[in-house]
Amino acid sequence: MSNLTSWILNNCPTFGQLLLPQACLLCGGASGAALLCANCDSELPRLPAGHCASCALPIPDGDICGACLDRPPRFDDVTAVFAYGFPVDALIQAFKYGGNLAVANVLGNALGNAVATHADAIIPMPLSPQRLRERGFNQALEIARAVSRITGIPVMRDACRKVIETPPQATLPWKKRAKNTRGAFVCDADLGGKKIAVIDDVMTSGATLNELAKNLRRAGAVHISGWVVARTLKQDSGFGIQHKALKGSSLNPES
Ligand SMILES: [Zn+2]
Ligand SMILES: [Zn+2]
Repeated sequence: MSNLTSWILNNCPTFGQLLLPQACLLCGGASGAALLCANCDSELPRLPAGHCASCALPIPDGDICGACLDRPPRFDDVTAVFAYGFPVDALIQAFKYGGNLAVANVLGNALGNAVATHADAIIPMPLSPQRLRERGFNQALEIARAVSRITGIPVMRDACRKVIETPPQATLPWKKRAKNTRGAFVCDADLGGKKIAVIDDVMTSGATLNELAKNLRRAGAVHISGWVVARTLKQDSGFGIQHKALKGSSLNPES
C-alpha cells in the first residue's frame, strides 16, 4: 500500500466529521465541508475529451476505437469521469480496501454530475458473496447510492448476482479476461424495455461490463450504459499508468 493510501486511510473523516470544516484529504489545506479542496478537486485527472463513444478509451480521432469496431461490445456506451491514475487510484483504494465510505460520496457525486444520458434504473456491478463477506460492502453499490441521490434514478440492487468468484482481472492477460468472466452473472429481474446504467468504480478491459451486459440484454434491457468513476488507459499508456498507480501495493483495481 502506498504511503499516500495509508495516509488517506488513517486520516479519512467519518460522516459526522464531514459536517465540520476540515482539511483536504490530499493536501491538508482548508476544504470547508468537502473532503477535497477546490484546487485538488480541479487537478484530479479527468478523462481526455477525445475518447471512444462506445468504451470511453481515449483515442486521438474518430468516434469508435479499433477494438470496438472489430468486436462491438454488448453495452452501448460508457461514461467515465477520471483516468485511473494518481491520486484517483489512491482515493479508490482507500475507499475499497480501507472501508471509509465518505470517499464513496466524493466519487459518486463526481460521477452523478458527469452522466449526461438518462437511464430508467441503476444496477451496481455485483460482487460475489465471497468478496462481499470479505469486504463487508459493495463499493459499486455505495457509489450508486450517491449517483441516485443526484440523478433521482432508482437503484435495483438485487437485479443481478455474481455467482462465480473470478480471479482478479488485473492478474490476467487482456485476451483471457473475457473468458474469465463468462457465466459469472445471473440476472433474475424483468428489465423489459428498460434503459440500464451499470455502475462500477473502475473499468479496465471492459470484459466484466460486457459479460454483465449480455445478461441484461437477455433480461430485456434495451440500452446499457456503463457509468464508472475511473477508466484505465489501455496498453501503451494505460499499463504504464496502472503499474505506476499500483506500485508497492498488492491491490488491483478490478476486484
Ligand atoms: Zn487539497
Ligand atoms: Zn472503444
